[in-house]
Amino acid sequence: MSESRVVRVAVPTPLRRAFDYLAPTGAPLAGARVRIPFGRRETVGVVLGATTEPGVAPHKLKRISAVLDEVPLLDGQSLAFLEWAADYYHHPIGEVLQTALPVLLRQGAPATVAGLEQWSLTVAGRALAVDTWKRAPRQRRLWEALAATPGLSAGALGGLSPGWRPLLAQWAERGWARVEHGDCLSVNAGPPVASPALTASQAQAVSALVGADTYRAFLLHGITGSGKTEVYLQAIARVLAAGRQALVLVPEIGLTPQLVDRFRRRFSVPIAVLHSGLNDSERLCAWLAARAGRAPIVLGTRSAVFTPLARPGLIVVDEEHDLSYKQQDGFRYHARDLAVVRAHRDDIPIVLGSATPSLESLHNVRQGRYALLELPERPGAAALPQVHLLDLRRLPLIEGLAQPLLKHLDDRLERREQSLVFLNRRGFAPVYMCYDCRWIASCTRCDAHMTLHRDVRVSREPPTGRQTPHAASRERPPRHTALLCHHCGAEQRVPARCPACASERLEGIGEGTQRVEAVLARHFPRARIVRIDRDSTRRKGALQGQLERIQAGEADILVGTQMLSKGHDFPNVTLVAVLNADQGLYSSDFRSPEHLFQQILQVGGRAGRAERPGEVMIQTFYPDHALFMALIDHDYHAFAEHALAERRDAGYPPFGYLALLRAEAPATSAALAFLGHAHRLAQPLMPERGVQLMDPVASPMERRAGRYRAQLLVQASQRGALHEFIRKWLSVLDTDPAAKRVRWSLDIDPVMLF
Ligand SMILES: [Zn+2]
Ligand SMILES: [Zn+2]
Repeated sequence: MSESRVVRVAVPTPLRRAFDYLAPTGAPLAGARVRIPFGRRETVGVVLGATTEPGVAPHKLKRISAVLDEVPLLDGQSLAFLEWAADYYHHPIGEVLQTALPVLLRQGAPATVAGLEQWSLTVAGRALAVDTWKRAPRQRRLWEALAATPGLSAGALGGLSPGWRPLLAQWAERGWARVEHGDCLSVNAGPPVASPALTASQAQAVSALVGADTYRAFLLHGITGSGKTEVYLQAIARVLAAGRQALVLVPEIGLTPQLVDRFRRRFSVPIAVLHSGLNDSERLCAWLAARAGRAPIVLGTRSAVFTPLARPGLIVVDEEHDLSYKQQDGFRYHARDLAVVRAHRDDIPIVLGSATPSLESLHNVRQGRYALLELPERPGAAALPQVHLLDLRRLPLIEGLAQPLLKHLDDRLERREQSLVFLNRRGFAPVYMCYDCRWIASCTRCDAHMTLHRDVRVSREPPTGRQTPHAASRERPPRHTALLCHHCGAEQRVPARCPACASERLEGIGEGTQRVEAVLARHFPRARIVRIDRDSTRRKGALQGQLERIQAGEADILVGTQMLSKGHDFPNVTLVAVLNADQGLYSSDFRSPEHLFQQILQVGGRAGRAERPGEVMIQTFYPDHALFMALIDHDYHAFAEHALAERRDAGYPPFGYLALLRAEAPATSAALAFLGHAHRLAQPLMPERGVQLMDPVASPMERRAGRYRAQLLVQASQRGALHEFIRKWLSVLDTDPAAKRVRWSLDIDPVMLF
């Protein structure tokens, strides 16, 4: 047995290591998938490479059962990038690969796209009368769904009706339907839309981007409405002309249908769109098309950063400040940061775009690591909105709205212009309280108040399984209001009497989007109000429909959460009201002012596109706060200057480096006790300087979903020292018996400190 036949395999397991196996002759190359025995089961792993120093005695090595890829699934470049990511985030390589690969590949399916079906109605099928389905509601549903689209995938049909296949086979026989085994890529059928003329600063940005053909990082800081997307599009056109591929990352595709649409209409090349709405075969198909170079443009959310490209030419990260680029559980990577690393390794340019860049990226500009491209004006001379503060110390609130705001909303209605009312709180009221004894409805599983909701879906499943079969079978009337926990999803009935004092004087306190919608409807009975939040857009296609209504001018007032601040253009909105701006001013998280500023600037930027100037009104109890002063001047740099100085003084990122050890357990003190133990274990491993260990503390919301949580912050002045310490610390923690009694995780470069 020659040594070269031992290979290191990444196995999907939480263990922070790879495993050695004996490979058959003609050993699989690095990057190929193999089926292997692991413990008592068989699983699919990825070969990382040959090893000459197996970690176990030769006679104990197990054999690979089957080699699944003749040609390696991942090339050396992709594999090395994933290994780098696993190393940087101190996360098991097996789980990193799980994140990077489409689910079918993880399960061992062949790396081909056979079987991707697309069903559509024939002309005869479309001509059928609705009456055909009078007694067949299931068939009618399928027919209507197919009639409404050019075609549906097997996955989509399965979602509509599990027994669709024999039905459609019948229809195909009758000549009503047909199936194509096509491709997952969307191609623009019509002629591509011509590029508009660029402003001087757009042209400058484009020429800087296309002038770089090796690694260079750019920060494209363009105020809202300044045309960042046009810069991406024109830079991408040049990349495509050179026969290379562009990878475009966006925060959430569901929230940015307009952006995807613009890409589709501009280019007549296949575009692979990777998002959470894809079924498994569509995802596999898009992934393979990107890898083979058949998709010149790959557009996707966070995890698309791992998509292999045959001929990478450019990476775009749109809205680079957006928090959704950071994965908050499992493999806690930051897609923007990884995109920069990837561009560097692939030696291609990358552009990070935002109207409100992260302080980290601004700092990188100051350090000379990123080149700054600025779009300081809006095309067509559209003016920036004027910002006004409504001083709530002097202005009484009428059900959450200040009088001058109501007056301005009225003016807009009069002038047939749209208004947007923003508050980052869904539901009807954030607190449900008894007026007599001050009892407040709380979640039984979290340290949190329950939120009063109206229009709760009747089909909602009860969250607890405590119902007896008898109770479950009893018909219940549809529920219209309920108390929901926004942290664990628990649902309670709204008590008619106070559980503490039996009083009936119970009421929802404060405002959520539903209440604001109701208040506005009362004040302006003739206004057409559209509410956009997680509840109103839960149904597939609902958001798209609402956005279309708004665009078509079928809405007067938009009420919503931060979903409204993401990417959509509302050219007819001339007034933006921000209701609960103060929430982020004095939070325990050092990043909250940054997020607040970004959010207000983003949502405010939705106003006054086109030729009509917009206005932003912010309700606040702190009108003198420096953050609001900078907002009035639209001075992002002044704000950033101030915020960066504070971060420097505190040694926080980007001037220092953080890691957060989190723990949770069902018993009150177990998590905290474990972190205390971890703190002691760390002492002998600490470098002399550069790394600081804070005391373990209970998390700001200690109890969540019935588990008690605690955290321990590690702060360092040098990245290298931090990672060296973490490596040693983890090797001790991973083998410590106490670590098996709680659930714990390590977050490198955390973006939220709770
Ligand atoms: Zn009471
Ligand atoms: Zn809860």
